[in-house]
Amino acid sequence: MISRCSFCNKAANEVEHLIEAPSSSAWICNECVGKAASILEAGKKTQAVSKPFVLPKLPPPREIKAHLDEFVIGQDAAKRALSVAVFNHYQRLLHPDADLQKSNIVLIGPTGTGKTLLAESLAKMLHVPFAIADATTLTEAGYVGDDVENVLVRLLHAADMDIGACERGIIYLDEIDKVARKSEGTSITRDVSGEGVQQALLKIIEGTVANVPPQGGRKHPGAELVKINTRNILFICGGAFDGLQQIVAARTDQKTVSFSRVNALQDVAVVPEDLVKFGLIPELVGRLPLVVQLQQLDEEALVRILTEPRGAIARQYQTLFDLSGVSLEFASDTLREVARRALKRGTGARGLRAVLEGAMTDLMFELPRDGLKSVKLEPSHLDAPLTALGSITLDTPELRLESGALKKSA
Ligand code: ADP
Repeated sequence: MISRCSFCNKAANEVEHLIEAPSSSAWICNECVGKAASILEAGKKTQAVSKPFVLPKLPPPREIKAHLDEFVIGQDAAKRALSVAVFNHYQRLLHPDADLQKSNIVLIGPTGTGKTLLAESLAKMLHVPFAIADATTLTEAGYVGDDVENVLVRLLHAADMDIGACERGIIYLDEIDKVARKSEGTSITRDVSGEGVQQALLKIIEGTVANVPPQGGRKHPGAELVKINTRNILFICGGAFDGLQQIVAARTDQKTVSFSRVNALQDVAVVPEDLVKFGLIPELVGRLPLVVQLQQLDEEALVRILTEPRGAIARQYQTLFDLSGVSLEFASDTLREVARRALKRGTGARGLRAVLEGAMTDLMFELPRDGLKSVKLEPSHLDAPLTALGSITLDTPELRLESGALKKSA
């Protein structure tokens, strides 16, 4: 009789090794041994641990702001407000007896103005775990979609499964405005699902002990669950809140503010009641006491974003060119042209990479190149990048094909 693996039932001649159990007639093949080992290895990584949490030295708000300045251009008021809020939040953790209330934050600002970047830079600076979640993908428990509690699982993973660190982390909840109920007070048009998600979020934002499956996904009977106390997790919620201008204008009776200027919100303070009018449930708004507004980035800011912050896009391309032995220079009106084109896209600083990417890819495809030491990018090169390489003959497959075709027709 042919011996077979007791796990996968493969015969001895189908596998490399078949190992017999010493005291029974059971067998295991080399493939199943490998699978078993990787299951054990994965199991080790998903086991949550709880180490005592030590917050590295807490810098004062001014230092936090200075750090943010290295990464985020403009948004001065937002950076100041956030620096103080985050400082106070961690003071509260360091002095649990002082009876200070948690102050979660709402960031209001158009897309691509630095909301996520601010939250992420703060977490990095404080060396606390950080997770981003998109509120629109969340559902109430039991519905198809991502359980609200899975946001906590993501933070636990960012904390390397360390529950203590996870419980002091920062969660950025993007697109919170998209789970607003459609219109306040009119129950017929109420967006029930959005409200359900808000209710579910409210629980973890205000502080609860959540039982989460450490690997994420659905809870199922018998699954091992980890307790995460969300009391000290800082929630930063972000959104563009399109339409909020009108609500603020109606309240302040500044009818001209809302329609005549793109960035109408920048001079008028949003108050919690505006957010309730917008469609956030009052209980949730109550748990998000700090409302911080970000401004639309103008051309000047976009030019600075290209070159100034750490990891600025233009500098990243320069580094990539350097590595290929070519120095890349941007003419100053080129940067301005990139900013102008990005501005037209209406996606804030997000548009900058999109504008540059095409030209940069075409150029980098040609690198390295004998005799090519430097490239200076003029505005016209954005549309015809290869002309920046001067009179160098190109050796692209397309050109070779073309000359082949010419020969044929000759
Ligand atoms: P959002 O406001 O939509 O969350 P992000 O923070 O995700 O925008 O920014 C999108 C991209 O634009 C990121 O690559 C980020 O680095 C860049 N960016 C946006 N705003 C700024 C800013 N104020 N300073 C520097 N970079 C920015």
